[in-house]
This record gives sequence, C-alpha cells and structure tokens, in this order.
Amino acid sequence: MDTVRTRFAPSPTGFMHLGNLRSGLYAYLQAKHNDGVFILRIEDTDQARYVEGAVDVIYRILKDIGLDWDEGPDIGGDFGPYVQSERKSMYLPYAEELVKKGKAYYCFCTKEELEERKAEAEKEGKVWKYDKRCASIPYEEARRRVEAGEPYVIRQNVPETGEASFDDVLYGHIQVNCADLEDMILIKADGMPTYNFANVIDDHTMGITHVMRGNEYLASTPKYNLLYEAFGWEKPVYIHLSQIMKDAHRKLSKRYGDAYYEDFLAKGYLKEAILNYVALLGWNPGDEREFFTLPELVEAFSIEGLSKSPAIFDNDKLNWMNGEYIRRLSPEDFTSHARPFYAAAGIGHMDESILCRILQQRLQFFGEIPAMVDFLTELPDYDVELFTNKKSKTNPEVAREVLDMVIPLLESLPDWAENTVHDALMNLAAEKGLKNGTLLWPVRIALAGKQVTPGGAIEIALLLGREESMKRLRAGREKLA
Ligand code: GLU
Repeated sequence: MDTVRTRFAPSPTGFMHLGNLRSGLYAYLQAKHNDGVFILRIEDTDQARYVEGAVDVIYRILKDIGLDWDEGPDIGGDFGPYVQSERKSMYLPYAEELVKKGKAYYCFCTKEELEERKAEAEKEGKVWKYDKRCASIPYEEARRRVEAGEPYVIRQNVPETGEASFDDVLYGHIQVNCADLEDMILIKADGMPTYNFANVIDDHTMGITHVMRGNEYLASTPKYNLLYEAFGWEKPVYIHLSQIMKDAHRKLSKRYGDAYYEDFLAKGYLKEAILNYVALLGWNPGDEREFFTLPELVEAFSIEGLSKSPAIFDNDKLNWMNGEYIRRLSPEDFTSHARPFYAAAGIGHMDESILCRILQQRLQFFGEIPAMVDFLTELPDYDVELFTNKKSKTNPEVAREVLDMVIPLLESLPDWAENTVHDALMNLAAEKGLKNGTLLWPVRIALAGKQVTPGGAIEIALLLGREESMKRLRAGREKLA
C-alpha cells in the first residue's frame, strides 16, 4: 500500500474551532496509525480575511497538543511551499490547462454586470447562478483580451447536463445534477486561486491519500471530482466529518464560548482532556475505553470507528472527564495550572498545598476556582441560622458557647501552624466532651459565612491566616450576642 499522507489545512483565522481541531486530530491519527505522513498546510487564499499572527496560533496549538507535522511551512518537505499564498504561481498553469481542455474558461464579466444580471434573475423569481456568458468566447479571443490586460477570472466549465458525484467513506455515494452546479471561480481577479481550486491542486500535488475535513465541503466535493477527472488524476479517499453540535439544532457558538479550543483553555480545561474528549466526538474505539493519551489514540484509531451521525458536544461529559484528568495531576502540576485562577480569585498569597488539598478532589475545571473560594476574600453577609446543624448538634446558642471557648484558645496559640491549630481544637473538644463537629461547625460558619465550602474549619483558618480568622470569629460571636 502507498504511504498514507494526510493533511490538516486550517485557514489562519486566529482561532481554533473544535471542529477543525477534530479534523486535524483525525488526519493526524490516520497518518500515524498507518506509519504515514501528516502534513500541515496553511490555506490563506482569502487575503481579505488575513489575521496577523494567526499562523503562529495554529503552530502553537498543534505543538501544544502534540500534533506534530512531518511536512509544513516551518519545517519544509518535498512538496512545498506549504502556505497557499506562497504557491500562488503554481495554480494558474493548472487552470490554463483546464481552459485549453475546455473544462474552464476566462470570464470577463465585471462585478456590476453580474449584479445587474443577478437582480434581473431574482426579479423573475429565478435562483441566480453564473449564466456561462463568457463560456462561449472563443479561446483565441479570450487569450487576446487576457494579454491586453483586461481583468478576468477563470471559471470551471461544469457540463450543463449529467451528474457529478464522488464516494465518501462515511456518507457513501454523493451525486448531484450538474445543472444545479455553478461554474465556480478557480482563479480570482487578483490571481489567487479560490479555496475550491487550491484544495484540489494541493491535495494532488502533495500526494494526499486521505482527505479528512468537515462535512460543510460535502456539497462542493462533486465539483472537485470533476476537476480530478478533467486532469485525469487519481482521487483521494474522502472522509467528511459531521459537525459538532450543541444539540440537535444548534451549532457550537462563539457567543456561548463553546466553539473554540482557546475558550476551553481559558476556562481552565486541560489540553489532554479536551483532546481526549474531542477524539470521541465522532469516533469510538469499538470497546468501552474512554481515556486515551495521544499515543493511545494513535494505536486505537481506525476509520471504521468514525461515525457520520452528528456529534453532540456534551459539556457535562467534558466536565466529568476533565475532572478525572485533574484528579490525576501531581500536586505540583495541579498548582501550576491553578495559579492563574488563584490570582484571579485574589487568593494568590494563600497556602498552595492546602488549596490543592481542598480543591483537587472537587474541581471539574480550574475556572470554577474563583466562585468556589469567593468566601476567602470576602466574608459573605450570613444569617445566624447557618449555625444550626442537626448532625453536628449545633444551633446559635451552642455556637455562642463554642466561640466563647474557641476565641481565647486560638488567641493564646504560640503560632498558626496546622498542627498547632488542629491539636488545640481537638484537645478542647475532648476536654469538654463535645463531638468534633459540634466544635468545628460554628468555627467553620464564622470563618466562611456559608455552609458548603471546599475544606473544613481548620483548613479555612489556615488559608485565612491568624489575623483574618480572629477577626471573623469575633464578628461571628458578635452576631450571636
Ligand atoms: N481551509 C479549510 C478550512 O479551514 C480546510 C478545508 C479542507 O480541509 O479541505 O475549513
């Protein structure tokens, strides 16, 4: 079998949509599982949409998640350049070859003329598509006009009858009537190819064996196949991938912050978890496994595991999976991921080992930190009824007695070390014959001002530090006066 060669062909938009990321991942897995070659190609033919620095964003994200390419703009390869704008001069000769074969033609219609004819067609209730006016210009005449410097585009000459089709691994045989297809532009007035043309030329000249991309290209691919046929080229294997949807009707959206890889990183998801979850959106290993590292995905991947049914992005499932990844981090790694969120929550100065102890077991993603620890930076305005807790056998009266014992005890401690605070409180409970809970509940409420907190009374006291803890305990006692 020929070497498998796949490509990831993102357009430099500045962001990485999860759907694109998934296409790139599958293309990578298909290449690597088969000891093939994974190629990065930058599709920047739409210069109007050029975004400064966007190519670096692509490099950074792919490197970050480990999708290392074997050929690409920065490392070269035998089929370069790998940036479409740098290949500009390669496309025209191919388009001219098609013109000579009668499969394409020069079109001189101006924007104004096209708009006029479009408006007329619409007035008559017709759907406009290019009317082939320039297809009938004799070749010699067209060449003269081109050479005289008249602006032109080159359009594909789609037959007026018959069908165009292709076979997709997931969607099967896709066939459309040529009558429904427009003579799409191959070369634009600025000499740049359109995506529609460039993808065909590039996939062929780069020896791509498997084209894996979003199914928004499903409808255009029959036209691409006409081009392959016109050139007499062998077609790649086509695998179009279903969209990732929020639910049955809605796409992922920028607005809700669930469309881009970067959105999830910013919310404090781990890249390994995102990659793992995205891999399972439209592919399954054929068994019950859910957790995969990238090398494990390479091992397990096969095209047979892909599915064309729409992939529903289940944020709860991602949260769960990300939480499991968080649990597996070493305390050091946990802390280095958490640190920016500690800073955002205003708790950057607090004891990181205690924070790790109370947070690592309960976080689903790091962005939950600020809301979870809000009480550390500001004591909520709470009601004395919070001191009531049946299980701990406390109520406001009990809490008053407890705080009257605890406050002087803590004031008298030589230091605020964990053992010191812990032992003092436990000894006091034992001495007074109180359940630990009866002693600790009022302390926790006075320190946190809420019933549900990560960490217990002692951990919260250590995080707050001596001064702030004493202040809060006294304030709690005052409330109970
Ligand atoms: N540049 C296209 C995109 O970003 C890629 C389509 C393809 O893979 O052929 O959507």
